[in-house]
Amino acid sequence: MFVDVHCHLSFPEFDNDRSEVIRRLQEQGISLLIDPGTDTETSKRSIELSALYDLIYSTVGLHPHDVKQAVPDQTLCELESLAASPKVVGIGEIGLDYHYHDHNAESQLEACRSMLRLAKKLDLPAVIHSRDAWEDTLRLLKEEKATNLRGIMHCFSGNTEIALECIRLGFKISIPGTVTYKKSTLPAVVHDIAIEDLLTETDAPYLSPVPFRGKRNEPSHVRFVTGKIAEIKALPLEKTAEIIQHTARELFSIGGTVQAAGQKEH
Ligand SMILES: [Zn+2]
Ligand SMILES: [Zn+2]
Repeated sequence: MFVDVHCHLSFPEFDNDRSEVIRRLQEQGISLLIDPGTDTETSKRSIELSALYDLIYSTVGLHPHDVKQAVPDQTLCELESLAASPKVVGIGEIGLDYHYHDHNAESQLEACRSMLRLAKKLDLPAVIHSRDAWEDTLRLLKEEKATNLRGIMHCFSGNTEIALECIRLGFKISIPGTVTYKKSTLPAVVHDIAIEDLLTETDAPYLSPVPFRGKRNEPSHVRFVTGKIAEIKALPLEKTAEIIQHTARELFSIGGTVQAAGQKEH
């Protein structure tokens, strides 16, 4: 019943025990997981993983950390052809990250714009990573606005005002495990916006929620995020999970019910 819309399960951090992690997430009732690519290589790995499990879907993209200079046309072409794979449901992660001093804002903006245009061309939702770059992110989204531009603000870290702006632009707000941290400002955002605009994610292997803070994160922990949202919204856990599952499946055009999906033979 739970959904993790952003989890890097195909990353090497899970190479030693991936099947165990997948067994645990199925046991814990996670029935939908989206694994985002961060460049051509990780996008390919994500697609390979999604082919093995019914409940895993993939998105292909170019993470701002991987954009240090102008992106070659060949990379964009490769990502476009990868996006045609049957279990690719979106373009991402893409976005802007000005956190590190060596970032190249101009190249990131150009790459993000190209990827947003690809999302519009292919009519797929975009998975946006935005860190210390809200002003440029919102400006870019406004400049690229189109009726079919939509997606998620993954690992949302802004305030209510920014969240509402993103929602107006066609985006859902994806809440990570940091919502469980004592000093987090995210509970206020969750409180202020409609539950239909919320999604849940782990961003595993990063950002473990309480009570696993500091350890490698894994998708089964997404239930703590859903639990926190249920608490803030004063809704039963099942109802909260059901609404979020519905939002995710509708946005990413993923059919099926909210029950746990089985593993394909491979
Ligand atoms: Zn990210
Ligand atoms: Zn990520």
